[in-house]
Amino acid sequence: MLTNAPRGTKDILPDTVGEWNYIEGKIREICGRYGFEEIRTPLFEHTELFHRGIGEGTDVVDKEMYTFEDRGGRSITLRPENTASVVRAYLQNKLYGDSSLVKLFYIGSMFRYDRPQAGRMREFHQFGVESLGEENPMADAEIIMLAVDFLQSLGLKELKLSLNSVGCPKCRPVYRKVLQDYFRDKLDDLCEDCQDRFERSPLRILDCKVDADKPYMADAPKITDCLCDECREHFEKVQSYLTNAGIEFELDPRLVRGLDYYTKTAFEIKYAPLGAQSAVAGGGRYDGLIEEIGG
Ligand SMILES: [Zn+2]
Ligand SMILES: [Zn+2]
Repeated sequence: MLTNAPRGTKDILPDTVGEWNYIEGKIREICGRYGFEEIRTPLFEHTELFHRGIGEGTDVVDKEMYTFEDRGGRSITLRPENTASVVRAYLQNKLYGDSSLVKLFYIGSMFRYDRPQAGRMREFHQFGVESLGEENPMADAEIIMLAVDFLQSLGLKELKLSLNSVGCPKCRPVYRKVLQDYFRDKLDDLCEDCQDRFERSPLRILDCKVDADKPYMADAPKITDCLCDECREHFEKVQSYLTNAGIEFELDPRLVRGLDYYTKTAFEIKYAPLGAQSAVAGGGRYDGLIEEIGG
């Protein structure tokens, strides 16, 4: 039907565009206060950028990307998220120029070929912030504070912040092994996706949404017991900055996030009244991504 928009997309009509403008105005106001500058990257990129940046074996790259060949035979992908593009733009335009720390934010459409369900669209709108070139755990805490600040400014009160550390290339392999040892004799009982994840990315088993698998997650070993000294210290500092800022959080050792590039801090904010799809914000640190994309 020519009068139906494609599944998973929707028009923003004149009667609601004011709400969009209001929220975007809040974003610009709060980001400005925290010293983040706006960046706008193309809606599509070379497919390879997302393969390298997000990682093969992730649901996003394997199942959800809008990828096509353009008329010149190049493989092009509609951006499924914006971090890889922002890092690409940071490198290409040498934004690191005079100061190593660069703080950016973006607002825009992202595209994922996902089963449309409550609140999930194939073209969806995301606001994000990126702190590039800062090792200090204060940067992690600052981004979490900004996210909480923003959501509260919209009047959302029942927010629940969960926090975890996903380790680094030094300590994560140790945890991978521990986790594989735990799941090995339970594998036949887990869903097909989890069996698939076992070799490629066992941490992602913890993220499984299948109810029948959930009891196995409860007793799984925790990554926080395997962190190296550097990661543990970093994680403790992030927590203490948040505590000092009066921000409540709970530790969730099963929070791994769906993307490969995270190191150390991972966080998620839920807004309980939304029910099953209650995660409204999430993110984490990505120490290796600039090297990965800069190659
Ligand atoms: Zn580590
Ligand atoms: Zn599963």
